Amino acid sequence: MAGVVSMKDIRKVGAIGGTTLVYYLCTTAFATAIGLFLANTFQSHFPVLSVSGLEYKAGESVSAMDTLVNIFPSNFLAPLYEANMLQVIVMALILGFAIILVGEKAEPAARAIDVLNNIFMKAMEMILRLSPIGVFCLLCPVIAENGAKILGSLAMVLLVAYIGYAAHALIVYSLAVRTMGGMSPIKFFKGMMPAILFAFSSASSVGTLPLNMECTEKLGVPKEVSSFVLPLGATINMDGTAIYQGVCSVFIAACYGIHLTPSQMLTIVITATLASIGTAGVPGSGMVMLAMVLQSVGLPVDGIALVAGIDRIFDMGRTTVNITGDASCSVIVSHLLRNKISTWSSGETKAMKEAGNSMSTLASNEAESSGVTNDKE
Ligand code: ASP
Repeated sequence: MAGVVSMKDIRKVGAIGGTTLVYYLCTTAFATAIGLFLANTFQSHFPVLSVSGLEYKAGESVSAMDTLVNIFPSNFLAPLYEANMLQVIVMALILGFAIILVGEKAEPAARAIDVLNNIFMKAMEMILRLSPIGVFCLLCPVIAENGAKILGSLAMVLLVAYIGYAAHALIVYSLAVRTMGGMSPIKFFKGMMPAILFAFSSASSVGTLPLNMECTEKLGVPKEVSSFVLPLGATINMDGTAIYQGVCSVFIAACYGIHLTPSQMLTIVITATLASIGTAGVPGSGMVMLAMVLQSVGLPVDGIALVAGIDRIFDMGRTTVNITGDASCSVIVSHLLRNKISTWSSGETKAMKEAGNSMSTLASNEAESSGVTNDKE
């Protein structure tokens, strides 16, 4: 909800807001599909683990049509107590948009959501601090019973995720900036290198935001565009995270000896795409969202322990893709809408700044409550 509410000024910026949103959602859905495709291709290299704690009972399989119909809850509370994650996300999006449409009268609700978001982020951070102990306890029996082969398969799942990251960045973004952004991909990646390296080492989109703005502005993106598109991207656009979630869902399913059905894969694409709106641009949040994705298709959440120990290595790659996706969008938007931008009145420029500011505030609040700063060092 906080992610949606932070977009409250988007309609003031019209075509630019629409183009940015469509690009972000389409590339994220595509990224999840790439992750699922690659992981399915390499599935035979993932082990089926035999561990007493890792039993799983398959639920009923549902058709793709039912999956789509089921994303809407029958009532307001059911998704919460049934822990139906996809419905929870859909409900949050609907309520978020309703708050925006109500406007000024709903201001207190918007503020309350912002405060609650910070509280939940803090709680998540506290829980994550304890996670090494939990992961250790969950992994001990797995390693005791399966031996070193689990380490080999972890290396394999990492490799698959990195192939996905590289394929998405080199194929999708290169094609996008070349065809819709009018820029050579080599120039784009060269110009983005400082931000890419910083994202890789910090694993935080929000922390990389100032450097990302600097790089895109040097590539010729007007400040008005970058100051709106990039904070929005750091808040809602997570292509690398989507690839990771696709790959890890298949990996975890394979470890439990489960084959995902096409409708489960469709659910993963929808959940990962919508969940990216609520994923904070700080280290580790993609792993928390993975719990949601697993739950949406009835996979055991405990399975996260299998990949949690090496999450930082996943995170470095996925953050790099996340910020590169945001930057590619800013290049495309400034190229596609260049005529509109050059005739902007000061009112529109002001609206862009306001929209960018409200998203930057959400992003930096989230970063602050999880201990990430915007400092370049
Ligand atoms: N660390 C990522 C980012 O900042 C989010 C994630 O954990 O996937 O973009």
